[in-house]
Amino acid sequence: MQTPDHSPMSPPARPVLRLKPREGRRVRAGAPWVFSNEILLSQENKALKPGSLVEVLGDDGRPFGTFYFNPKTLIALRRLDPDPHATIDAAWFMTRLSKALAIREALYDRPFYRLVHAEGDGLPGLIVDRFDDVLIVQITTAGMNTLLLPLTDALRQLLAPAQIMLRGDAQARLLEGLKPEIRALHGPDLPERLVVEENGVRYRADLGHGQKTGWYFDQRDNRSFMAGLARKRSVLDCYTYAGGFALAAAKAGAREVVAVDSSAPALALAEEAAVANGIADRCSFLKADVFEELDRLAAQRECFQVVIADPPPFVRARKDLETGAKAYRKLARMAAGVTAPGGFLLLASCSHNISAERFALECAIGIERAGREAALLRQAGAGADHPAHPMLPETAYLKTLVYALS
Ligand code: SAH
Repeated sequence: MQTPDHSPMSPPARPVLRLKPREGRRVRAGAPWVFSNEILLSQENKALKPGSLVEVLGDDGRPFGTFYFNPKTLIALRRLDPDPHATIDAAWFMTRLSKALAIREALYDRPFYRLVHAEGDGLPGLIVDRFDDVLIVQITTAGMNTLLLPLTDALRQLLAPAQIMLRGDAQARLLEGLKPEIRALHGPDLPERLVVEENGVRYRADLGHGQKTGWYFDQRDNRSFMAGLARKRSVLDCYTYAGGFALAAAKAGAREVVAVDSSAPALALAEEAAVANGIADRCSFLKADVFEELDRLAAQRECFQVVIADPPPFVRARKDLETGAKAYRKLARMAAGVTAPGGFLLLASCSHNISAERFALECAIGIERAGREAALLRQAGAGADHPAHPMLPETAYLKTLVYALS
């Protein structure tokens, strides 16, 4: 009898899902997504557990690879590997994570960055932020959730971290049928304060309880750019959170920095970090609603040479586009109103659901309504540790515009 020449361990048989005839435009072009209306679904397929690994074929039999499947979501399939028989285990994760790590090590001197940015790093549904030997893991899909064990194994092998913490409290999880969950995956619970090093500033973050993964690495380059402009100038940082822009500006030699946020715990972190960095004498922290504070400053004819406004997402869902767009316009008008002649203004949006063009238009109209002439100096997105998948331009969510005002 002839022995078969393939490997002795045959790959696990996976359910096969087929694209409808002529459907799957994006996956054919190389995108790692298939939408629920693009596939033929038998009763058996519909009964698959959310997160099951499947093989996807075109109606002509063309193989697209190994995907995970959720019968309940609009993005029904996300690709893990172009090989339809790939074994998704700790070794597979090691390969992906090592690539992601090599990119960050080329970009940064210090081990503080987003290590994994979902589809941009070939790991859909997964975010990992690295704070030296502490890793914060965010999982937003049922598919990635079923792979938590091999993922944790691989992270431990690759980086030998002291702690790995799961922050499973993103809104997106609800669509996938995942419950909110915050717990240690490895090591003890996190301390309430951790140091984040960025642009030569030592910030404080509360990674277990703070917003998102506890720190917004995405604005790193924009903070550095604004810090360069802030030297010897007065700065207003609206929506400062833990002092991201404010402390970078003060450290770079700003004359005076006023940082505003509505969250007392976030301001406490910013203030502690200002003291630790020896710049507290030039910083003040104000708990207030930004729109109210801008109104008050305008009424008192107070202005600043550098104004930064990096708000929470105003367009949370597509249906909020028009109201959110109006809020961005109003914020641009009011922020321009307190920017000194010859000053600089940064306006940012982290809403996936507003396009870069629309956001720029609303900012332009707002600045115009404030009666100001502007030159657009810089249009930027998130830092390079937030790579986008080239076939998924919508995953580039952050839009940051910097103007010089006359
Ligand atoms: N610029 C920050 C990130 C801002 S996140 C950085 O560089 O890290 C958005 C912040 O807006 C949060 O800290 C939140 O507490 C704050 N916020 C939300 N609504 C607000 C409001 N109406 N007035 C003031 N702050 C607000």
